[in-house]
Amino acid sequence: MPLNRRELLTGMGPLAAAGWIGLSAIDAIAQEGEKAPAEAAPYTLPPLPYAYDALEAAIDKETMTLHHDIHHAGYVKGLNAALEKLDAARKGNDYAAVKALSREVAFHGSGHLLHCIFWTNMTPEKTEPKGTLKRMLERDFGSVDAFKAHFGNAAKQVEASGWGILGWEPLSRRLLVLEAEKHQNLTVWGVHPLLVIDVWEHAYYVKYRNRRAEYVDAFWNVVNWDDVARRLDAAAR
Ligand code: MN
Repeated sequence: MPLNRRELLTGMGPLAAAGWIGLSAIDAIAQEGEKAPAEAAPYTLPPLPYAYDALEAAIDKETMTLHHDIHHAGYVKGLNAALEKLDAARKGNDYAAVKALSREVAFHGSGHLLHCIFWTNMTPEKTEPKGTLKRMLERDFGSVDAFKAHFGNAAKQVEASGWGILGWEPLSRRLLVLEAEKHQNLTVWGVHPLLVIDVWEHAYYVKYRNRRAEYVDAFWNVVNWDDVARRLDAAAR
C-alpha cells in the first residue's frame, strides 16, 4: 500500500521528508493543516513499549505499574489542565493566574516529556553503546565507563526528587550530563535529553527503599542504547 503524506513525513523524519518533497520541516507541518496539539489532541499517556514486568533486571512490576499508570498519567492530566486554563485566560484576557499556570506547564510538561523519554530509554533486551554514540561518549567523557560513573553519580546526588540526564548541547555540539531537580529545574536551554533516569522516590522505593544508589547501578542492566543512539542522531542533525 502506498504511504500517504502523513505516513511519509512521520516515517522519514521531518527533515528527510521535507527535503524529499522540497519543503522545510516546519512548512511541512503547517501544510499538514494540523491544529495546535493543545486544541486538537490534548497530551496523552503513551503505552509502555514492553510489559510491566519486562524490566525486572532493574525495576519491579509494581513500581512500573504505579509509575506509568498513576504518576506519569498525573503529569499528562496536569499539563492538559494548565493549557486549557491558559487558553481560557487568553480568550477572556484575564492573566491573573498566568504565573502559577506557567509554573504548572513547566512542571507537568517537563514531567511528561522526561517520562516519555525514560520509558523508551529502557528495554529488556541487552544492548551496548556502539558506533557513533560510543565514539561521542569517548570524545566528551573520556570513555564509556567514565561517562557511566559521571552520569551515575549525578543521578545519585540529585537533591530530593529529580533526574539524571545525558543531553546533546547543540550550540557547541557536545554531550552534557545534567541533573534536574523536580522535572524542570537546573536545565540548560536547548539541550536535547538523550538518556534520562528518574530518581524520584516513586521510581524505586517499592523495591529499593532508601537505597537509590542500588537502583541507579541496576539501571544499566536495562538501558536501551539503540534508543539513545537514535536520539543523538536526530538531535545532532
Ligand atoms: Mn517519575
